[in-house]
Amino acid sequence: MSIINVYPIQFNRVKATLLQCDNKLILVDTGMSIEDADTILHYAKSNLNMPLEKYGEVCIITHCHMDHIGGLKWLKKKCDFKIASHIDEVEKIESATGFNVNLKLKDRETLPYCGGIQFIHVPGHTSGNICLYLQNEALLILGDTLFADEEGNLSPPPNHYSVNPEMSKRELKRLRELDFDKIIVSHGKDTINGAKKKFQLMMERIA
Ligand SMILES: [Zn+2]
Repeated sequence: MSIINVYPIQFNRVKATLLQCDNKLILVDTGMSIEDADTILHYAKSNLNMPLEKYGEVCIITHCHMDHIGGLKWLKKKCDFKIASHIDEVEKIESATGFNVNLKLKDRETLPYCGGIQFIHVPGHTSGNICLYLQNEALLILGDTLFADEEGNLSPPPNHYSVNPEMSKRELKRLRELDFDKIIVSHGKDTINGAKKKFQLMMERIA
């Protein structure tokens, strides 16, 4: 099995994540600004010695909010990677960035990178909101599906940020059946151990 490296990149208010495997880079979300885009380019080049312009394979967008897609158009001017999102987010991403979404995926579809990156559709925050499940790594990349505080305690996204807060809580049950130990969130502290337990505690709290 190939080695997969996971690099969360923290900006002022949000994160993006770089996945590295088989001499390829997979980017998850793009921050909100040209500064965030530059931070990603710099990170890949300086820290990984793998310029995104050369090694970027695909950019997966977890959902269409500006702090996740704002850097995309700046990155796409320099990089030739494909763009992937859930099918329900395609229109909004394309009209906000001017670039086509190449891979329009549905719930449980899997991209063939890093041993398989599965789309788990959890609608509610936005209609095409997804998390990414890397089963071999026991890793969930949650985007805004859940928020975390400074200790890594989880909660559903704040109501005022979600198109349908009730749905976003209800649909969290989709994550129950997955085996995961690590989670990366866009807002708050990530968990590298015992993430399922934290998830279960939160589910009890909001039930
Ligand atoms: Zn959001």
